[in-house]
Amino acid sequence: MAWYRKLHWQIILGLLLGLAFGILAAIQGWGPFVTNWVKPFGTIFITALKLIAVPLVLASLITGVASLADLRKLSRIGGKTIGIYLVTTAIAVTIGVLLADLVRPGDAFSPELRDGLVEAFGNDATARTETAATVADRGPLQFLVDAVSDNAFASFSNNGSMLQVVVIAILFGIGLVQIPKEKGAPVLAFFEGLNDVVIKLVDIVMLLAPIGVFALLADTIVATAGDDPSRILELLAGLSWYMGVVLVALLIQTVLVYPTLLKMFTPMGVKDFFQGIAPAQLVAFSTSSSGATLPVTMERCEEKLGVSEEVSSFVLPLGATINMDGTALYQAVATLFIAQAFGLDLGLGAQVTIVLTAVLASIGTAAVPGAGIIMLVIILESVQVPTAGIALILGVDRILDMCRTVTNVTGDATVASIVASSEGQLGPVNLSEESDRLVVAA
Ligand code: ASP
Repeated sequence: MAWYRKLHWQIILGLLLGLAFGILAAIQGWGPFVTNWVKPFGTIFITALKLIAVPLVLASLITGVASLADLRKLSRIGGKTIGIYLVTTAIAVTIGVLLADLVRPGDAFSPELRDGLVEAFGNDATARTETAATVADRGPLQFLVDAVSDNAFASFSNNGSMLQVVVIAILFGIGLVQIPKEKGAPVLAFFEGLNDVVIKLVDIVMLLAPIGVFALLADTIVATAGDDPSRILELLAGLSWYMGVVLVALLIQTVLVYPTLLKMFTPMGVKDFFQGIAPAQLVAFSTSSSGATLPVTMERCEEKLGVSEEVSSFVLPLGATINMDGTALYQAVATLFIAQAFGLDLGLGAQVTIVLTAVLASIGTAAVPGAGIIMLVIILESVQVPTAGIALILGVDRILDMCRTVTNVTGDATVASIVASSEGQLGPVNLSEESDRLVVAA
């Protein structure tokens, strides 16, 4: 197949064109045109992806759990998954802390720019701090309480309740294997059919991906540049060291740590892994939401990387909600950067606190754009760094959000591959584009 007909090349093209068009639109002041005529295509793309997420998780997890002959296996996979998620997040945060300590991006930050930013973004920063306060007030076990739903239909109608959907699907699947086979068979067949249909829907929505990605990128650039594009250039220059540290640390995690883990624990080729997962990474980059990307991540892991449905349907939705390596890493770097910019020295004890709180905060971070900076407030408070400091990094946060979401999604796919391999449920990689194409009946 000609290279330009391959999905990931088309998405990359959409991304580059969106970038170029967004810059042009920002310079020319075409903001209203982009908002009215371009952005809607991006919104439709994200909305369609979100539409698929709940039915996909529900159908695939129910069929996945029901196919487990032995329920002990479920708890084994569960324990393994959570354990590996914690380890990969801890590695990510440590890389962030070490690099921020080494480079000290906040030392070079000019106090004038700092005070200017605190003034310019002060109100936005306060709004985030207030949101964070409601989160911080909750007890330590609140996340467990929140995972249990009192109304299945209410959970199904809210994409933010993905953890509840996961719990409902697991319970339903367990119930399904406990009843006599002849009674369970039609229910199972229904969910198997539903699952196949939903997976096909992912293919259909992905046909929109190149246009959707174009629109999302153009809109993000116009929105970030605002009325005064020269201001974003000033910000980029002023924050270049901070951004550089976050990006290099994300890169280390994504192209060094994950491949090393894959090499150690799976027979999968690293190139195959990245080729298989690329469309999910590109969607993550343009939507800044691991929640919206989840259907694509699941489809790619199952159809391209050979991860069994049983494993992917459990590991990936869980990962999208609790495993955010990129976010945790960024939160650690941002905390150290803000402390340095305010001339505060954080000792070893405070740095260990940052590592622990960042791992926990990233678990509680929602899989939506901009959620990471809200949880950052909690980390800042834990080490007594002024929360007004988030004003320093707000202006460039969306750009870093795009990048950290790529790491979040790559981390989920890596762990899914490792867990599948350890369970003997990792099939051969299949990178043919045949399955991307839709079969239209003659
Ligand atoms: N946007 C990120 C995600 O959805 C979360 C964050 O770091 O803001 O994965």
